[in-house]
Amino acid sequence: MSDPLWMVRFRPGVVGERWRMVHLVPVPDPAAIPVTVGDCVRVLLALCGQQFAPGEAELLSRQAGAPCEVCLALLEHASVEGW
Ligand SMILES: [Zn+2]
Repeated sequence: MSDPLWMVRFRPGVVGERWRMVHLVPVPDPAAIPVTVGDCVRVLLALCGQQFAPGEAELLSRQAGAPCEVCLALLEHASVEGW
């Protein structure tokens, strides 16, 4: 069993296009503080350590754009459906 992951990147305009790689973010425990990406109410933390402040992130339903190489390297301990 591995923890589910979200594919998350910065929304357009938050950072430059070259920084909009797709990061892997462990899905927050639903029993914890409610989180909605898009109207994110707390900081999300990617595997590589990249933080997404509330309102900065967009959640991808499938792979799109360039993946974060650091997150991919750390993926061996996790899994993403469809990656
Ligand atoms: Zn990353």
